[in-house]
Amino acid sequence: MKRVSVIGLGYVGLTFAACLADRGFEVLGVEVDKEKLKIIASGSSPFYEEGLKDILRKVIPGGYFKVTGDVSKAVKESDVTFVCVGTPSNPDGSVDLSQVEGAVKCVGRALSEKKGYHLVVIRSTVPPGTTDNLVKDVLESESGKMVGKDFGLCFNPEFFREGKAVEDTLNPDRLVIGAVDQRSAKELMEFYRDFYGDRMPSTIITNPINAELIKYANNAFLAMKISFANMFARLCEKLPGADVKVVMEGIGLDKRIGKAFLGAGLGWGGSCLPKDTRAILTFAKNLGFDLKLVRATVEVNEEQIDHAISLAEKMLRGLEGKTVSVLGLAFKPGTDDIRESRAIKLVEKLTEKGARVKVHDPKALDNARKVLGNKVEYSISIEECLRGSDLCILATEWPEYRRIKPRDLRKLMRSPAMLDCRRLYNPKDFKGVKFMAIGLGDQEH
Ligand code: NAD
Repeated sequence: MKRVSVIGLGYVGLTFAACLADRGFEVLGVEVDKEKLKIIASGSSPFYEEGLKDILRKVIPGGYFKVTGDVSKAVKESDVTFVCVGTPSNPDGSVDLSQVEGAVKCVGRALSEKKGYHLVVIRSTVPPGTTDNLVKDVLESESGKMVGKDFGLCFNPEFFREGKAVEDTLNPDRLVIGAVDQRSAKELMEFYRDFYGDRMPSTIITNPINAELIKYANNAFLAMKISFANMFARLCEKLPGADVKVVMEGIGLDKRIGKAFLGAGLGWGGSCLPKDTRAILTFAKNLGFDLKLVRATVEVNEEQIDHAISLAEKMLRGLEGKTVSVLGLAFKPGTDDIRESRAIKLVEKLTEKGARVKVHDPKALDNARKVLGNKVEYSISIEECLRGSDLCILATEWPEYRRIKPRDLRKLMRSPAMLDCRRLYNPKDFKGVKFMAIGLGDQEH
């Protein structure tokens, strides 16, 4: 299966398509957004992701990766189709499956005119039961063919981290394959063996509902780890000498816990954890079940922004009329994605409280402008952002912010003060300036 079609060229689809093409697969990418399609066809990327542009610059002119707006053509000219369209939240927290349904309908229609076996793989995050019910039903009714006999169907979730998407696509921790029948599983395994060669990751082969649950349980667990760190951060702040960073480092070395995702800060945002925790909570609620730990995980996360605001208010004795510099707007370093970014929420609350807000981000300023408009002042350098300000809030831990020293604050700011909301700095380095951090108890004792 060397001929691949990928439907939906967002963060997931474009990264996957580019990596496949780079490994010699013939890839046809389908995207409905004409603007995005134009950018990709020119060999560039509509969003920032480390290493992606370099691959696109090779595979687009090289002809390994072609793009089109026509699903039918893409399905007919490939052996396997990966569906990577968006699954945003509905207002009630449930998943809006209209993009999946729309894409799968087109795939089904194309299959009706195609001879030979074809494998359909859902990579979008979908609620438990979607592959076996909605997707299978639509594909069968639109194609007039039978899954398991005429075509294959798998749910194969994506677990990559934005900012490390290329690296994670090439070296995932594991693959999860939820197949409706044995042949589909075998075909997808063969496809991945071809892609990964002798670096084939550990693979779990199961049914679609378990695979769908694995994806949601995975994200709920990751979110829970961060909220756990934030819960202890709040306790540490009440205890002189306590530091959540040390406490989490201490527990993270326990192999049963692991050190990833224990960073206290503003909480989790982005395009996945917020919508996926909402989705699984709503899904369970509709079955009459309360996922209590996930509910608490979300509650702790929601409180964290107000808590950061209260620390800022304490440092400045009120925010009205004060100038605040916010460093970092992307939902995490390494991306320009601001979807459900905690930093953006923080900025919005600061402006509501009457602060004059100056913002900086190495990659996400253009995206931020679309949502923050003229509510804030945009700075193209860190220095410009800090100049004349009363408080600096570190909101996204881009590595370039590490180089900020207390002397920079003293030189540039009206009153040198730092609120470290991502625990980037060593408090000892900031002696002599007003310094507070999430999860840091009074250090004078
Ligand atoms: P995205 O919104 O960036 O991209 C989806 C793309 O699909 C858009 O460009 C949209 O225009 C396109 N599209 C929609 N319908 C289409 C159709 N019928 N034909 C062709 N194109 C179509 O979303 P994303 O961040 O890439 O996420 C995609 C899915 O993967 C979601 O279900 C998400 O939950 C999941 N996921 C995302 C990440 C992540 O970090 N972004 C990680 C793991 C899983």
